[in-house]
Amino acid sequence: MSPCFGGEGEHKDAAAVGFAPGRAEELMSTPRRLFIAGNWKMNLDRAGSQRLASAVADQSYAYTKIDVAVCPAFPYLADVHEALTGRRVALGAQNMHYEASGAYTGEVSPTMLADVGCKYVILGHSERRHVFSETDEMVNRKVRAALQFGLAPILCVGELLAEREAGKTNEIVERQLRASLNGVSFEHLRGVTIAYEPVWAIGTGKVATPAQAEEVHAHLRKLLTTMYGADIAQGVRIQYGGSVKADNAGGLLELPNVDGALVGGASLKAEEFLGILHAAARLAKSQ
Ligand code: PEP
Repeated sequence: MSPCFGGEGEHKDAAAVGFAPGRAEELMSTPRRLFIAGNWKMNLDRAGSQRLASAVADQSYAYTKIDVAVCPAFPYLADVHEALTGRRVALGAQNMHYEASGAYTGEVSPTMLADVGCKYVILGHSERRHVFSETDEMVNRKVRAALQFGLAPILCVGELLAEREAGKTNEIVERQLRASLNGVSFEHLRGVTIAYEPVWAIGTGKVATPAQAEEVHAHLRKLLTTMYGADIAQGVRIQYGGSVKADNAGGLLELPNVDGALVGGASLKAEEFLGILHAAARLAKSQ
């Protein structure tokens, strides 16, 4: 099975990190198309994963102006890849190790993900950070390894409720962003999607207000501008994640600095996820 792009190399330029010829240019010249990704977490069995992937893929004719990905559990990546073949829905994984191979019992490597057809990988999700104690340094190693082996990271940042209440939201996301992107060159940054996911909004039904989301997204873009320059920062997609559903997606996706959504619970129900995709497709058409 061939990944959307793959290969090995040094952290120097697009070719050296393994993007197939033309792939890096394609990523870098795409002007912030809305990008909706479904994070299925540790849910669904094999048949359920195939069914859901097919239900999403069957509607893919409507998604010509947006990017869509689904991220099933590791054991079903190959089955879902098969269900998505030839459709406009990409495959992503939910995590990975930063080494390509070796004595890391229970882990899955970037090359394995590329080998089963993954284009994206979610890194630094709050459940990885807070349940499995992943540090910024680990997330950074993973981001760099993903890019090295031709995967496009979806890098999650976000504050806890106590941090928001203490007025520390900007400080927390800045620390996470800077540390996670340490050593990532500007040539590679547009292979990265940032996902702002306030931890208090994940799986809780409490969605950030459009004003709260836009404030943090604008702050993230300002930070990216400081780190990489305005031209590069303007091209980076920043998804919002946290209790996105069909009925609140439109109000978030229309915000100037919100370029898509990372969707958990609502991505497990075809109708709900398709509702989010339709909201995104409608906005993309009117842009
Ligand atoms: C997530 O886990 O990335 C997420 C955003 O979950 P939910 O949509 O269920 O809040």
